[in-house]
Formats: sequence, structure tokens, C-alpha cells
Amino acid sequence: MSHAYVPRAAPGGRASSAPLMGGGEEPAIFEMSVPGRRSASFRATGVPEWTAEELVPADELRPEPPAMVEISERDLVAHMTRLAHRQYSVDMGAYPLGSCTMKYNPKVCDEAAALAGLRSAHPAAPPAYVQGWLELLWSLGEALCEVTGMDAITLQPPAGAAGELTGLLMMRAWHASEGRSPSKVLIPGSAHGTNPASVSLAGYRAVSVPSDGRGLVSPGVLSGYLDDDVAGIMLTNPNTLGLFEEHIAEVARAVHDARGLLYYDGANLNAIMGVTRPGDMGFDIVHMNLHKTFAVPHGGGGPGAGPVAVTHRLAAFLPGPVPARRPDGTFAWDRPARSIGRTHGWHGNALALARAWAYVLLNGADGLRRVSEAAVLNANWLLSRLRGTYAVPYDRPAMHEVVVSTRDAPGPAAGLRALDVAKGLLERGFHSPTVYFPLVVAEALMIEPTETESPETVHALAEALVEVASGSAADLAQAPRTAPVTRADEALAARTLVPTWDALSRA
Ligand SMILES: *Cc1c(COP(=O)(O)O)cnc(C)c1O
Repeated sequence: MSHAYVPRAAPGGRASSAPLMGGGEEPAIFEMSVPGRRSASFRATGVPEWTAEELVPADELRPEPPAMVEISERDLVAHMTRLAHRQYSVDMGAYPLGSCTMKYNPKVCDEAAALAGLRSAHPAAPPAYVQGWLELLWSLGEALCEVTGMDAITLQPPAGAAGELTGLLMMRAWHASEGRSPSKVLIPGSAHGTNPASVSLAGYRAVSVPSDGRGLVSPGVLSGYLDDDVAGIMLTNPNTLGLFEEHIAEVARAVHDARGLLYYDGANLNAIMGVTRPGDMGFDIVHMNLHKTFAVPHGGGGPGAGPVAVTHRLAAFLPGPVPARRPDGTFAWDRPARSIGRTHGWHGNALALARAWAYVLLNGADGLRRVSEAAVLNANWLLSRLRGTYAVPYDRPAMHEVVVSTRDAPGPAAGLRALDVAKGLLERGFHSPTVYFPLVVAEALMIEPTETESPETVHALAEALVEVASGSAADLAQAPRTAPVTRADEALAARTLVPTWDALSRA
């Protein structure tokens, strides 16, 4: 097997038996292994060398050494760099993946989080030694409470879904403190998939409330679902159709009257910062995705942050410890009186929190508002360019994202598959939008341009979406021809998923 890099010669399908590995003619790293080759060599130092047999009890040793790649440092770096160049990323261009807020993350936030005093602190350091860190965490918490209209917060959860579980466990603890144990949580039909999953994980039953003809939760429909057994409702506003829930105040009143709590999925906070607040709408619990709205890099499972903010009546249940400011201006850790316990080790993904604080300082309150205004403006401008080409199933002013469809499109997109449109977009240098979500829209394309793209880029994205739609379905079915990995055989990929090299040898 040759190690040389052979650039892709011509467009065409992939013949590999491993549908999701590598791509093109790039060898898999295990194919580059040469027995005995190493990335490092050590000089003889006179320090005694121990063998594995001398260090590890015999019954703990593997019978055979594990299969490892044997490769030189030079070839390893070249291989990884070639793969990295095949990646599309936020730093390369627009990434309009709806509901994910893949906006550009200013590098100054990384620089702030990399300051030695932050980076080198030990999480177990006594508070007296890390007053700066504590002040940062406390200040971030205060700012996020201000943005959401809440009273108290935990910064521990490492992701949005982890925040959802944390919030729901607080909901459960609150009901228990009232001597109640309702079993259902209501969720609108357009909800993000993590919502019902978190509800089940928290021991509740998710009950789906259908949206009305305008894509909203209607108080009339909701009243049919509210009874003694309802612990609360989980909503996002704007919802996953990108629409603002107009009846939110009425919905809040009805749920509270039924002794339920309102949970706000704040992953979409990018649409409303400085304009409106979940607390003002009547919500009791809010999680935020700092890795969406507050410029913490995300995707690929990197460290995120999903803080949960609550109103006064739930503050005693927050996971602990929480950063607190003493009357003398010093900072300390407090344990809330009826804490549900930890939801993450130490203090969450602390450097993600440092990035978010840098982002808050960078923008200020007025800047955060401008972020949301520009995000909404970009989405509405895009929507105005797509009308006529794509169907707009819920055609109202959008918030930060727009949902269009090829189904029953008034223009050239009619009859195309959303998937093919997404693949066609890849050939034009853009990441694809979210497709087939929300589930309530057939052949959905959910597009979130974000505020960080220039007018020129949003224009180019709109042009690309219109141009793709005017292609023939047969031609689009071949896309993407120019990407390192061309069209995968979806059925084959689903049935014989080969995510790792050792899985390939077992397949
Ligand atoms: C992204 C998202 C989530 C989940 O957040 P993770 O950090 O991926 O766990 C939940 N709800 C909505 C609306 C989202 O967009």
C-alpha cells in the first residue's frame, strides 16, 4: 500500500467498502503503518528501563499488544493536516445549520480564556487563591440572569441537553417539596429532539401538544392538556420554526394556574438578547447554550456550556456549589439549601465559561442586543430572497432562522428533495442547512445565517440556494461532485456503519 497522497483525479462515486471512513484516495491511517516505525526516539540516558512485565502484574497484561499505528511524526502530521484541509468549518465560511447557531467565534475570546492565570488554576484551589476566577464566574452568572430575566443560576452543565436534565430535575425537586409528584411534561410538536429525551431521562412522560395552523402553541389547544398530572411545559421561543410564540403570556398563566412550571429551552437565545427575556414571559427555568449564542466554539462534541437560570422559588434547588459574592466584596462557594447535587465535576467547562464572559464584555448590553437584531435581520432578508423559489409553510416574520420547503414550492424548487438541495449547496462552497427538521414540515430546510455573516455572504448564500433550486433533480442527485467525499450511499451507510478502523476488520 502506497503512502503517497494522490489528489482526487476526477469526480465520481466512492468505491470504498467503508462508507463513512476517510474519503477519496486518502489512505486510512492504519494502512500507513509500518512495523517498527516510530514518531519518537529516546536517547540512552542511563536511567533503568522497565519492561511492561516488570511494571504490571501478569494477570493484568494483555495477551497481545494492542494494534497501534506505527508511523513517523512527519507522515502523521502530513496525514492529519491533509484531513484537516478537507474539513469545512465556521472559520472557512458560512455554516447556516439551523437551530445550531454556527456563528463565528471571535478569537479574542480564545485569547482571554488562554490567559495563564485562568488556564493554570487548579479547580480545587482554595477560594482565597482564585478570587479572580470566582469573580469571573459570578459576574457571568449575573450577566446571564440579566439577559434571561432570572434570579439565580448554575454554570455547571456542560451542554444544552445536560442543562435540560438539570432543569427538569429541579422541576421534580420543586414539586416534591410541595408534596406533589405529577408525571407528565408537555412539549410542542415542533420541539428539539433533546427535549423529549431529557424529559424521559428525568423520569417524566413527554406529552406532545400539536402546534396550531400558524405553527404556534395555542391556549385553546393547550387547555385540553392541562390537568393535575402536568409537572410543566418545555418551550422554546422563538420556537424551532423560527417563530415567536405570540400567546406566551396566556400560556404561562394557564400552566401556572395548573400548578405547573415553565421551562424555556434557551438554545435559541441568539434571537432575543436585549429585546425580550424568558423571565418577563413567565418562565421559571431557562437553559442557555453558551456554545451557540455566546461564542464558545462547538460541533464535534467539543466542550460546551449549558447554564441553567431559575427564578427565586427554585434557587434553593440549584446544583452546588455556586459562586457567591460576600458583603465585603470577596467571593466564595455556596451550597444551595436544597441542592439537587452536582451535575458536573468541579465547576463545569470553566474555560468555555471564560470565553463566554469575554464575549459578554466584548459586546456589552447594547452589543448583545445588536447581535440579536442583526441575526434576525439576516434571517428575514434571506427569507425575502427565497420566497417565490421555495415554499414558506409558516410565512410570518422570522426570528433568527427560517424554515422553507421544497414541497409544493411555488418556484423551481418544487419537486426537489431537501437533501439534494443541501448537497447542491456543498458544491457552491457552503455548509448545508439543517434538513428534515423540524419534523412538522415536510422536506424542510432550516436555515440560520447568523449575525456574523456579511451582507455579501448572506447574498451569496441566497443566490446559491436559488441557483441550486433551478437545477434538474437528476443533476442534483449527483451532488456533491467537488467535495472530498461525494454522495454517500445512505442505505449502505445506515446498514453497514463502519465508524472505526477496527469495526472495518470485523465487518
Ligand atoms: C442545540 C439545541 C439543544 C441541545 O443542545 P446541546 O448542547 O447540543 O445538548 C436543545 N434545544 C435546542 C432548541 C437546540 O437548538
